Amino acid sequence: MKDFDVAIIGGGPAGLSAAIYTARAGLKTVVLERGGAGGQMATTTAIENYPGVYPVTGPELAEKMASQARAFGAEIAEFSEVTAVDFGAEMKIVRTADEEYRACAVIIALGAIEKKLGAQGEAEFRGKGVSYCATCDGPLFKGKKLIVVGGGNSALEEAHFLSRFASSVTIVHRRNEFRAENAVVEKIKKEPKITLSMNTVVESIYGKVKVQGVRLVDVQSGAKTDVPADGVFIYVGWTPNTKLFEGKLELDQNGYIKTDGSMHSSIPGVLAAGDVTTIQWKQIAVAVGLGVSAGLAAQKYIEGM
Ligand SMILES: Cc1cc2nc3c(=O)[nH]c(=O)nc-3n(C[C@H](O)[C@H](O)[C@H](O)COP(=O)(O)OP(=O)(O)OC[C@H]3O[C@@H](n4cnc5c(N)ncnc54)[C@H](O)[C@@H]3O)c2cc1C
Repeated sequence: MKDFDVAIIGGGPAGLSAAIYTARAGLKTVVLERGGAGGQMATTTAIENYPGVYPVTGPELAEKMASQARAFGAEIAEFSEVTAVDFGAEMKIVRTADEEYRACAVIIALGAIEKKLGAQGEAEFRGKGVSYCATCDGPLFKGKKLIVVGGGNSALEEAHFLSRFASSVTIVHRRNEFRAENAVVEKIKKEPKITLSMNTVVESIYGKVKVQGVRLVDVQSGAKTDVPADGVFIYVGWTPNTKLFEGKLELDQNGYIKTDGSMHSSIPGVLAAGDVTTIQWKQIAVAVGLGVSAGLAAQKYIEGM
């Protein structure tokens, strides 16, 4: 059993930012990360929208945040997957396969994973034209032909955003009606660069080095059409990494952790930050801000214990 003031689960931008604050405040801090430090941020080549460091690659920014946390004394336990938690007592328990950690406060920063379409070529062309984040990658597609897959608010809002850069945007949706709110649908219909492909699914994404097009299938007739495209943006939902907390913490209907304004979950001393919470924007700067708030709130909580 190892004792800490603060145990942070997840070593992405939210977890590392929380660690910088708690460790710098003199609290004994451990970050438990199932992979290498950096989270999703570390998987992308160019980050153009994180303030103050431009240009920067994902791995560079991840290393800067991790080394800053270590410089203030945080222990970052990489390749330590958290498999169980016990929040029943004042001292919280967090378990990995080979260690048990006890802490006064726990910060959950496990992120979320985008749902995949399951189309052929989707994984192969990820980062080579396939994206799940218009805010991140949209400006890289100036003057290009784009496909957006999905029928909810996010898909339509992002299609509208992408039409600022792209020469054309085709929204592909498997039903004949959108799930998105009416106002959003009307906005889309007024945008001349956007066309709709209803009752259609993406069967495959093809290309050589990068995406060159998609094969669409009409779900009613079965007819197949090849549509040339430079990018495919997929918006079919997200799954937060919260399985461990089902029945233990209050989650919303989609499984995200509910927090109050200072990032406290439904259990005192258990906080959450970043993409795992109910925030709207999945962005590094947002995750960092929430991680900082959780770090500060953990300090206050421990002071009051
Ligand atoms: C390809 C790509 C490009 C992106 N580009 C940009 C961009 O340009 N700009 C921008 O602002 N945002 C970008 N984003 C979004 C941004 O990376 C995320 O919003 C941000 O990383 C969320 O931070 P987080 O700390 O909340 O979660 P994450 O970064 O997801 O970190 C969560 C961490 O928890 C770990 N974890 C999960 N389960 C466990 C467990 N059981 N035990 C231990 N550890 C666990 C994961 O391994 C992960 O490291 C991009 C995302 C992707 C995927």
